[in-house]
Amino acid sequence: MTSGLTQSTDVFIVGGGPAGLAAAIAARGRGFEVTVADRSEPPIDKACGEGIMPDGVAAAGALGISLGDAGARPFRGIRFCEHDLAVEAPFPRGVGFGMRRTALHELMVERAAQAGVRTMWGASVAGLEREGVRIGGQLLRARWIVGADGGNSVVRRWADLDACALDSRRYGSRRHYRVAPWSDYMEIHWGEGCQLYVTPVGDAEVCVVLISRDHRQRLDHVLPRFPLLAKRLAAAGAASSERGAVSASRRLDRVWRGNVALVGDASGSVDAITGEGLCLLFRQAVTLADAFEADDLPRYQAAHRRLGRRPELMAEAMLLLDRWGPLRSRVLQAFAARPSLLSRMLALHVGELSVFDSAANGLALGWQMLTS
Ligand SMILES: Cc1cc2nc3c(=O)[nH]c(=O)nc-3n(C[C@H](O)[C@H](O)[C@H](O)COP(=O)(O)OP(=O)(O)OC[C@H]3O[C@@H](n4cnc5c(N)ncnc54)[C@H](O)[C@@H]3O)c2cc1C
Repeated sequence: MTSGLTQSTDVFIVGGGPAGLAAAIAARGRGFEVTVADRSEPPIDKACGEGIMPDGVAAAGALGISLGDAGARPFRGIRFCEHDLAVEAPFPRGVGFGMRRTALHELMVERAAQAGVRTMWGASVAGLEREGVRIGGQLLRARWIVGADGGNSVVRRWADLDACALDSRRYGSRRHYRVAPWSDYMEIHWGEGCQLYVTPVGDAEVCVVLISRDHRQRLDHVLPRFPLLAKRLAAAGAASSERGAVSASRRLDRVWRGNVALVGDASGSVDAITGEGLCLLFRQAVTLADAFEADDLPRYQAAHRRLGRRPELMAEAMLLLDRWGPLRSRVLQAFAARPSLLSRMLALHVGELSVFDSAANGLALGWQMLTS
């Protein structure tokens, strides 16, 4: 028997951010004993746009996390803005929600406690063994180990899962402003080499995120390039300090090995501009619990790949618009001339459009761009 063995659990989760807590809630729902450890104390903050699309709201609901009842601010669609042009579309069904990251974390911690998840805060996991994890100088035995330790996952490295088919990065930073949301849409402001997006997160607060390929850019540097937005924010005080994070587009070759599985950003991610990171990890959490129940981690690999396809496609489309200014202007003009094209693109984004309809919409968009 290994010395230092003190406890055991069915599922040990490294990282108590949204992915770790979602995975814990889902696994508890199947009756497993679950322990989550995070090196930080709740509520844990992180740079995030703080917008959850309607598909993410539904995915959170499936885990018993009710954003609407927790004071989150609804938004009913997306608005694209560039120079003087603004074009918007409502979601085909439901609403998205904006919510401070710390408030989401508190809500999830509460839900995990209700579900009977054991949590260890301020506890850094120092290593993996075949039979469990090293934590606080001791071995905690676990049947399954989940790496939910974010984009720089050490569990991923320890389990030799770093190999990826795709790995590119942009840089994001966010700040909250004390101002009543001027719109019930989430706004994406397109500029050369960067985007700013604005999520209403309260009755008197918005969250603004800058995303760019240049890690030196800061909100104060780029805001003058967006005069309308700068004017709105000038009168508002900052309600938080600027906080940065890497926004990675990363697809791993595999997301499990032996008794270790990865979830959330540790398992790969889509560019932040999609606003799909949280939705993805809520869904991954459920499929991972399915795989535990079936004692079949390869099944998780297949489901994980399937879940990633649509967000990855949307991310590619958005990144194409980021890179090609003239194409972006044509696309936005086409959306302005035929708003139904944007509505259908948004429907695809939130999983409400079939592949056939998506292809038809792509053709209609191309035709509109050629003929306008
Ligand atoms: C700028 C930006 C904007 C974004 N905007 C949106 C948005 O609007 N909507 C959306 O849905 N998604 C958005 N995303 C994506 C979303 O934020 C991520 O997908 C999500 O935070 C991933 O959660 P996670 O739990 O996987 O990782 P994290 O939130 O990074 O959590 C990982 C946790 O692991 C812990 N940890 C790490 N190592 C250890 C260790 N050794 N031992 C113990 N604990 C450890 C950390 O303390 C941390 O709490 C955005 C991302 C960025 C970068």
